[in-house]
This record gives sequence, C-alpha cells and structure tokens, in this order.
Amino acid sequence: MKKKKNIAIVAHDNRKKDIMEWVAFNWKELLQHDLICTGTTGKMVEDTLAMSCHEHGAVPPTVARLKSGPLGGDQQLGALICEGKVDMLIFFWDPMQPQPHDVDVKALLRITVLYNIPTASNRSTADFMVTSALFHENYQPILKDYAGYITREVDMS
Ligand code: PGA
Repeated sequence: MKKKKNIAIVAHDNRKKDIMEWVAFNWKELLQHDLICTGTTGKMVEDTLAMSCHEHGAVPPTVARLKSGPLGGDQQLGALICEGKVDMLIFFWDPMQPQPHDVDVKALLRITVLYNIPTASNRSTADFMVTSALFHENYQPILKDYAGYITREVDMS
C-alpha cells in the first residue's frame, strides 16, 4: 500500500456517533487519503468532514459510497479487499445488538484477516493506526501463499 491509502470506514448505527467523533478528530489526517464507506456511514463521514473543512477553510473531500451495509455494502467492501483496492478498514461494529446482515459482517471481517488488512473495531485501535509511523509510509502486507490450496486435488469419486 502506498503513502496515500484507501481507507474503508463503516459503522453500525449504535456506533455511528463514536466513529463521527473519531472522523472529526482526525479530519486533517483523513483528507490526505481516499475514503470509501458503506452508504449511510459514507453520507455521515462526508457531512462531518465537510463541517470540519468549512470551519478551517479547507476543501472537503469526496467520499466513495457503496450500498448500505445490510443491502450489500459489506459484501462490496469484501470484494474490493479481494481485488487489492482497500488498504485498511475502520469498522465500528455493534457488540450489543445482532444485525440483519451478521453473516456479511462476519464475511467482511474474515476477508480482512485473509488479506492481512489492518482493521480497527474500536477507537483505541483506530487511534493507534492513524498515529503509527507505518500509516505515513509505503507498506506491503505479507500474504500467505495459498498456491497449495488453489492447486489441490479434489476428490471426485
Ligand atoms: P451503513 O452500513 O453505513 O449503510 O449504515 C453499515 C453496516 O451496517 O455495515
């Protein structure tokens, strides 16, 4: 991943306030990267950044928005990770309430592990991520070699 990163931001409804506080606090940092979000989170991130930019006379960024999470947005994000188009994920998921798209959430989190994508589920981790020296450098996540899996013999008997 390059210095300018593709950062995905997602939050469940009960965590949207938390993530907007984080976005407002880190607005300057986030302006230097490309942001991609699920639908509703994206609208709120855009509004929050626009407000911070307005206060400081900066140009607000465009935030790429996918479908809303329960309507397939998490799956779209997972697909983008598989294609190498997302460098890190800030995903404040709700630990207290089941979601209609729990299976999609699980799938997304699985894909981040598979592709070794830095992932923050809470503010502390997100804070550590944006203040890491690696955040400002080129970085190549090490990927496991699945060649053996891809070329495995499948028993057809
Ligand atoms: P939303 O989706 O940003 O459209 O609310 C988030 C999610 O539930 O994954």
